[in-house]
Amino acid sequence: MKLAILILCVGLCSFTSSATAAEDPLVRREGKYLELITDLDSEQEINTIVSTFDHAVEQWVAFWNDQNFDPATFRVQAYVMRNEATFRAQGLIPIQVPDFNFGYALNQQIWIKAQPSEYYTRHLVLHEGVHAYMFDAFGGAGTTWFQEGTAELLGLHSSSGNSVLVNSIPTSREQVPFWGRFKRMEQIRQENKVPTVETVMGYRPNLLGDVGSYSWSWALVQLLQGYPEYRETLIDAAQQGADQGTGFNRIVSGALKDQWPIVSARWRLLCEDLDYGFDWERERVAISVKDPLWQGQPLELSVRADQGWQSIGVRVPGGIKIRFAAEGKITLAETTRPWISEPAGITLQYHRNRPLGQLLVCILPNAMPDNAESLEPLEIHAIDEEKLLEIDQYSWLLFRVNDAVGSLSDNQGDFQVNLTVGS
Ligand SMILES: [Zn+2]
Repeated sequence: MKLAILILCVGLCSFTSSATAAEDPLVRREGKYLELITDLDSEQEINTIVSTFDHAVEQWVAFWNDQNFDPATFRVQAYVMRNEATFRAQGLIPIQVPDFNFGYALNQQIWIKAQPSEYYTRHLVLHEGVHAYMFDAFGGAGTTWFQEGTAELLGLHSSSGNSVLVNSIPTSREQVPFWGRFKRMEQIRQENKVPTVETVMGYRPNLLGDVGSYSWSWALVQLLQGYPEYRETLIDAAQQGADQGTGFNRIVSGALKDQWPIVSARWRLLCEDLDYGFDWERERVAISVKDPLWQGQPLELSVRADQGWQSIGVRVPGGIKIRFAAEGKITLAETTRPWISEPAGITLQYHRNRPLGQLLVCILPNAMPDNAESLEPLEIHAIDEEKLLEIDQYSWLLFRVNDAVGSLSDNQGDFQVNLTVGS
């Protein structure tokens, strides 16, 4: 699925097939920005792909604030193939297109293998379409993580046709059958092989069907667009898309240099939590390099049940012990009847092997180990009873209630937590 940029393929593809219209198994459908050539047989699916693509393009232009977009000239030819041999027989797959597993983009032409679900076929048309768009608008899409991450970001969509919404995080697996990114991310989490930001930025081309690499590339672009303070860096970086070497990464990391410890810390949390129903409005983590150091005064704070990780507002030094005590009741509207939970959680229901509604604290170091390829697992403890925890290095402390990220919106109430220096 890589973007080929070297070859301007004027006249590469011949449409002068000897087959007559009556014999031709291929359907051609013209939209505003897309010409679809396909052997799909569902009229409805064909029309939906074209209409979805046309509306998605308008949203890509808006996302990149692309003032130079010319609707009169942008045009993509998409070959959506069930039986690849038909397309080969008609000379519709030029020799420059290598073997690929899902889709391929070459300038303004894209090739997609039809998938077992309409969603995933359409997703790949948009994904490859983003490559074509980025090439047209910016002369390329930067290095691999940016190229694939932005294609995933703007290919992932909810609804379709004229109500399509790109750049949306799916709320359920049923919404995006066969997309499979969250499943792969969870496997990689289980294997403790979640990459660092630096590892993702160093991905090389040749991502044939590597769902893991696509997923983390998407997650990094998600991070940069999910926090308003990074968004400008993301948007500006696209302008440098023709640079596909290390210079591109230097532009991005240079622009975020002062923020890098925060980017890395937020990355660790995002990689832990990104899943169906993830909602940036609840999951932005308020931490800063300027957070003052805790002086040991007793702290009292509320932890909301309907929000993601919540910082205590100060950093804590290493070499101390902290005593945690919590009380209160929250409501989790998980089922038809509300569940009332105390800090220990509800042992009738579990999320990630911990009781639902349990109060959790994450001890998140301010500094990451240098040159690590993958992330250390997060240090998370349950505050299910009074706890004394030892802090071994400068860290942020973050609380949340144990629940699926997609199930926070109907939670209510908060826990009260007290922190004192322990011994
Ligand atoms: Zn791609």
